[in-house]
Amino acid sequence: MNRFKQRLSQFMQGRYGIDHIYVTSLILYFVGLIVLRQINNSIYLNIFLLLLIAWTFYRVFSKNIDRRYAENQAFLRFINQIKSIVNRLWMRMRDIGTHRYRRCPNCRAQLRLPRKIGVHTARCPRCNNRFKVKIRL
Ligand SMILES: [Zn+2]
Repeated sequence: MNRFKQRLSQFMQGRYGIDHIYVTSLILYFVGLIVLRQINNSIYLNIFLLLLIAWTFYRVFSKNIDRRYAENQAFLRFINQIKSIVNRLWMRMRDIGTHRYRRCPNCRAQLRLPRKIGVHTARCPRCNNRFKVKIRL
């Protein structure tokens, strides 16, 4: 067993290894397998899953570490963008009865304003810009 571990660590030397894309791909792969069973097989999904798992392990054993690292960073940026969009939507839903969200026309900051029907003047706390806000309902 020890010799196996030694061989493995020698083999993995200078290779990229696992990251967030690897974990996500594996989850996607197993979800795909479950779907495959539910829909009684599909050649397209089979091919997709085969390519997915091949690409996943190509990345793990890749020696182009900088490139794989950059891919993972881009993937994390993408995931964070989605998280922030979902979070903003969730906050809007939560506050729908009491607040309205508006962007400052000057600095694009998102402001959470109390829900008062009519036209008001809002002041942006970031850039101190004053602007008109119309809240209809
Ligand atoms: Zn502003």
